[in-house]
Amino acid sequence: MADNASQPLEPILDLDRFRVDPDTKLSLNRIDPSGTPGWDADERAEAELRSVLLNQRLESLQERLWAAGSERVLVVLQAMDAGGKDGTIANVFEGVNPTGVRVASFKAPSSLELAHDYLWRIHQHVPAKGELVIFNRSHYEDVLVVRVMDLAPEERWRKRYRHIREFEAMLADEGVTIIKLYLHISKDEQKERLEARLADPTKHWKFDAGDLVHRAKWDGYMEAFEEAISETSTKKAPWYVVPANRKWYRNLAVLEILVQHLEALRLEYPPASPDIATIEVPD
Ligand code: ATP
Ligand code: MG
Repeated sequence: MADNASQPLEPILDLDRFRVDPDTKLSLNRIDPSGTPGWDADERAEAELRSVLLNQRLESLQERLWAAGSERVLVVLQAMDAGGKDGTIANVFEGVNPTGVRVASFKAPSSLELAHDYLWRIHQHVPAKGELVIFNRSHYEDVLVVRVMDLAPEERWRKRYRHIREFEAMLADEGVTIIKLYLHISKDEQKERLEARLADPTKHWKFDAGDLVHRAKWDGYMEAFEEAISETSTKKAPWYVVPANRKWYRNLAVLEILVQHLEALRLEYPPASPDIATIEVPD
């Protein structure tokens, strides 16, 4: 680990730019997915350098999180298909020690999962002490795809905003730090990314014809995201909307958000046993 990662970095991006305040109504069409708020659009190289430093700092903070074993951190990632969830995880957590970090991916529920309430499968993946868990999709699918694809009647999914607020409030009260990220891409950007998957044989595995079915309901998804985010962004479990057409900016913004949240936990290595200086390792 780089030595310079032992000190906090001066924050550069103000998280208020991305945070959706409780009781405000989010309008996604007012947020430019190609935007680079707080950063010059042509300063990609500088952003990448800054991201390297932030990544090193994240590595250092995660080591303390794991060593101290007292805090729990949950990162929720949501986006449209090809929105960059996997790429974000790969980039942001590059080099971070996988011990203590876990990704939980939520696909269409199995019959066993469907036989339970929708939070059943989620709760078992919430981080334990010392862990940082990334949700790649989450319980939010139950108010997104379920709503847009009409998998449950409105009277059923609408109540879930309240369930989710209360579930997350319970987790926060029990000491879980919750950070929710929506990667905001444009419909045109999604087209380009899906086309790139079709054009490159090494990306064919990523192409899912089902994505086109969801794409056809783009506006419905935007509306569902707007309402879900507006209804569930709380002080203890805030949503951040990250412009994500430009991957370098997305990575930078996500790193800033995560590092600032982890800094706020004031993570320290656990105290050594008082007699550590007198311990000798036998031959
Ligand atoms: P990629 O971006 O690489 O395609 P992915 O996250 O889309 O990754 P998939 O294997 O394609 O992963 O499966 C996710 C699918 O499962 C999505 O279409 C999502 O909407 C669906 N899904 C997730 N949770 C639920 C849910 N609770 N109910 C119904 N469908 C769900
Ligand atoms: Mg998919």
